[in-house]
Amino acid sequence: MKANYHTHTHRCYHAQGNDEEYVKSAIKAGFKELGFSDHSPWKYNSSFVSNMRMPLSVFDEYYASIAALKEKYKNDISIKIGLECEYFEAYMPWLKEFIKEKKIDYIILGNHYHQSDEKGFYFGHKCTNRKALDLYVDEAIKAMKTGLYSYLAHPDLFMRAYPEFDKDCEEISYRLCRAAKELHIPLEYNLAGIVYNKRFNVHQYPHPKFWEIAAEVQNDVIIGVDAHHYQHLEDIEMWENAKAYLEKLGLNRIETIEMKDFTKF
Ligand SMILES: [Zn+2]
Ligand SMILES: [Zn+2]
Repeated sequence: MKANYHTHTHRCYHAQGNDEEYVKSAIKAGFKELGFSDHSPWKYNSSFVSNMRMPLSVFDEYYASIAALKEKYKNDISIKIGLECEYFEAYMPWLKEFIKEKKIDYIILGNHYHQSDEKGFYFGHKCTNRKALDLYVDEAIKAMKTGLYSYLAHPDLFMRAYPEFDKDCEEISYRLCRAAKELHIPLEYNLAGIVYNKRFNVHQYPHPKFWEIAAEVQNDVIIGVDAHHYQHLEDIEMWENAKAYLEKLGLNRIETIEMKDFTKF
């Protein structure tokens, strides 16, 4: 069953289109299940305002909008309400309560920031040395151990700024892939990264060397569009190419994820 669980909305300030356009594109492209997972809001202990995630005050409107589409299109597609969340250690008790109270279907792990975006740094910019790579993996593993996250989005995000995939990248990739395998957490092959690599003629993430290691470790993998525009969902060729690539590598590709009952955590 063709499904995508990585879909943004305009509320994170860097995605375009209205929610319904995403649903229509997903139906057009043959998706049977579509999960929205916009960047989660956080309740900061300061007046910090993030410029890449919805403010907390917008969350209820996000939920209501998707819930309405879920009902409207129920005969055409299954719609799920999720969030792409970080692992902000100090705020995890808050997140746990929040996703339970709001009856979120699932969350995916987007490990973008060290500690939090309020105080820490963006791994995509600062992973240029072993110390930062280790922090990236340490935090991703701690997050996966919570059992809250359905999968790890763009696991090779650390290649965003790293000059080339060297011995250190290899070592930390093995550590990350083995931990994900042990914890039964699928890794996401991120199509937004492919769009970026192509557009700027770079080799950031997804990085082939990382995926060769994931294949060796025999990780479960799931394709994520990471749609920041509804048209991204309509790129069937990119989806099929990703499928063929992962199959060729011998990775175990999963298509759907189970929804979570957060009252059990
Ligand atoms: Zn992300
Ligand atoms: Zn994303």
